Amino acid sequence: MHNNYLEINLGALQRNHGLIREMTPDTTKIISVVKADAYGHGLIPVAKALDSCGADAFAIFDIEEAAALRRAGIAKPVMALSGIMPDQAPDAAEHDVSVTVYNIEACKALSAACSSSGQIGDVFVKVDTGMGRLGLAPEDMPQFLEQISKLGSIRIRGLISHFAASEAPENAHTKNQIALFDEVQNNCPNTPPLCQMANSGAILCNLSAGSSMVRPGIALYGSSPAPGIKNAHRLEPVMSFKTRVLSVKKVPANTPISYGMTYTTKRESVIAVIPAGYANGYSRSLSNKGEALVRGMRAPVVGVVCMNLTILDVTDIGNVSPGDEVVLLGRQQDRIITAEEIAVKAGTISYEIYCAFGRANPRVYVEQ
Ligand SMILES: *Cc1c(COP(=O)(O)O)cnc(C)c1O
Repeated sequence: MHNNYLEINLGALQRNHGLIREMTPDTTKIISVVKADAYGHGLIPVAKALDSCGADAFAIFDIEEAAALRRAGIAKPVMALSGIMPDQAPDAAEHDVSVTVYNIEACKALSAACSSSGQIGDVFVKVDTGMGRLGLAPEDMPQFLEQISKLGSIRIRGLISHFAASEAPENAHTKNQIALFDEVQNNCPNTPPLCQMANSGAILCNLSAGSSMVRPGIALYGSSPAPGIKNAHRLEPVMSFKTRVLSVKKVPANTPISYGMTYTTKRESVIAVIPAGYANGYSRSLSNKGEALVRGMRAPVVGVVCMNLTILDVTDIGNVSPGDEVVLLGRQQDRIITAEEIAVKAGTISYEIYCAFGRANPRVYVEQ
């Protein structure tokens, strides 16, 4: 019996995929982004659940993740979102990975690897329209496309770009990125068929109209990429983080709690200790800020979060006993703690909360 576990609801994941399907034009392909162990939700169970509900393709970061998908029997297109280093080309070819490219070295290596195994490798050429990260400058695209079209054994499947702030569709920067991407497509001789730019924010903000493929990540897992997005409330969270009470005790007023005595009880208090701390992904920045659900009520974190222990004030919640379920993320009775709520308190975004919990805890899969 684990003290801590993540409950992953594959039913919610599939419904989120269905919702994204509804929001995108019928002819648009949906690439499910499953990088970083499916944002901490578990690469293989997530990919299989999406595969069985009509996912068109998968996007990963590391070639090793592509290999794992193939070993698990995923036959659909798999895309290496952030490209490869030349020495990874043979693995990319072996696992039939579509590769994002933005330099000639990777293209040459992929061409050589595909040629020696007698296959054709698919590439998507990345253009930097304003993310300031990976990709070629728009003005360098025509020449680059010309250059790689001369290499054997690879085929340019599409153009790809990435939004810096898709959750702000009215922002001039976002509009400029869309205009630049259109311009690149128009300026390229023989524009490849599959042009794609939209991440979750763009899909939820209806910016995916011109895309032949979209790349949702966080929306699949039931979180909004930013606060205030209109369509996001229809998404269902997929991950819950559950633990249980390890110890309960009554302490007098003026008792300092945890390392550094950052909290002192103001009254006689009942404190419950839970066996989850920052080593379990529950960030130390939630010290004196976080909340947990115990017996259907909110209990505040008091004192600093320790490596494997956190202390809750349960004075106002009657009858808390060792073994009681504690929910750090997710629903208990009619209350819910979302990743967005935790992220705001921890000074980060839901993405990082999911990755941190996912890395550090066993997972249990349910279909509800
Ligand atoms: C991670 C990633 C996505 C998915 O982004 P979300 O905001 O999670 O939808 C899409 N495209 C690229 C290039 C990415 O790196």
